[in-house]
Amino acid sequence: MDERLKKEWESCVKCGLCRSVCPVFRELRQEPFVARGHISLLSDFIKGNFDFDSEKSKDYLYKCLLCTTCVEACPNDSGTDIIVELARRRIVELHGLALYKKVMAKILLNRNLMDLSALSANVLSLFLFNKNVNTSRQSASLRIKLPFFDKDRLIPPLAPKTFYNKYKSYGENPRISIFPGCLINYTYVKIGDAFINILHKLNIGYIVEKKASCCGAPIYFSGNFDDARILAKRNIDLFYDQSIDYLVVLEPTCASMMKFDYSKLFMYFDDEEYVQKALKLAEKIIDPVKYLYDNTNIEEKLKDTGLTVTYHDPCHLKRTQKVKNEPRDLIKRAAHFTEMKEADRCCGNGGTFSIDYRDLSLKIASRKIDNILNTKAQVLVTGCSACIMQLSEALHIAGHDEVKTLHTLELINQSLKGG
Ligand code: SF4
Ligand code: SF4
Repeated sequence: MDERLKKEWESCVKCGLCRSVCPVFRELRQEPFVARGHISLLSDFIKGNFDFDSEKSKDYLYKCLLCTTCVEACPNDSGTDIIVELARRRIVELHGLALYKKVMAKILLNRNLMDLSALSANVLSLFLFNKNVNTSRQSASLRIKLPFFDKDRLIPPLAPKTFYNKYKSYGENPRISIFPGCLINYTYVKIGDAFINILHKLNIGYIVEKKASCCGAPIYFSGNFDDARILAKRNIDLFYDQSIDYLVVLEPTCASMMKFDYSKLFMYFDDEEYVQKALKLAEKIIDPVKYLYDNTNIEEKLKDTGLTVTYHDPCHLKRTQKVKNEPRDLIKRAAHFTEMKEADRCCGNGGTFSIDYRDLSLKIASRKIDNILNTKAQVLVTGCSACIMQLSEALHIAGHDEVKTLHTLELINQSLKGG
């Protein structure tokens, strides 16, 4: 029995608070799909009765968004996310990965292969995608059925030029390094463009470290700890000795992985040297909006864009990085802000969760859409490109393409231009 799992299991007092907040439980209403249920499953595990082989057991452990809402709500600090991560690891050790997750890991481990795959996908996109169904969504549906992707799924096309190909380090003695994350590097380069434009307007130099690897989050959350460790080591070795004040990580999930999960990962492998290195690097990792808020006079430069906006809190920004007020303060200077109900409820994306459980993922998103529409905002602003992808599609499905989506950095950039 893994001692760590046992410790988390013992800490749960069965109060059920996690049931009242879990977005998956809210839809499925079954105990095995919530943190308390996951913890009860461990009692079978401790007795040696847990069947990691059965599809049902795998379903219980993979039908979790790892949104950490239950972690935040738990009065006893039970490591409800740790339990799911470690149990998934055990499933992968015993039974291996699903085919597409194996392929994904192979690609994510090799930047050249990633670039090549992106290039091929870009060329093939002419044949694979329908014409943009809606230019405001900047996404298209597939013309043919591909394994693992529903035909009607809206997918944002890959950018013609990646962030790493577009930008190089700038300025004398820059004090920040930028880590865009794969979604921004390959797809949502416009969010990276916005951040670069803001930095130039504020006359701030930066480093673009082109040798950076994927942060490893998609494979770590799948339970593939071995490959996640390889990527984590590469990134730590790359950034650890950089003479910078901040490593600005544009994607909240990548930031959360690098800031909090890298050290946990090395702890699981009893690698004390890298636990310490990961903890040291974590001190420098920061979200771009928080960086601007804490270190510049950006508030004074923002002008009203005339837009009415609402804001969605990405899980890995509000809950893990505790960034909640900073984006709101800046948005209020750039637009008319209207708070939505349950702004911090997960959008249902959850990385590969939205591929494996698309219907459930969209059901969770549709509750969010109701809350967005009730605000009557013209624009939904958020700080994560995966949330933008998910909520853009959900707005489109709901027939509300008139509600636009923007990243907080894009709104700030528009506002700096004078609205
Ligand atoms: S909130 Fe925490 S202590 Fe309460 S049932 Fe859920 S996991 Fe257990
Ligand atoms: S991490 Fe999120 S989806 Fe998973 S059990 Fe907790 S609240 Fe539910």
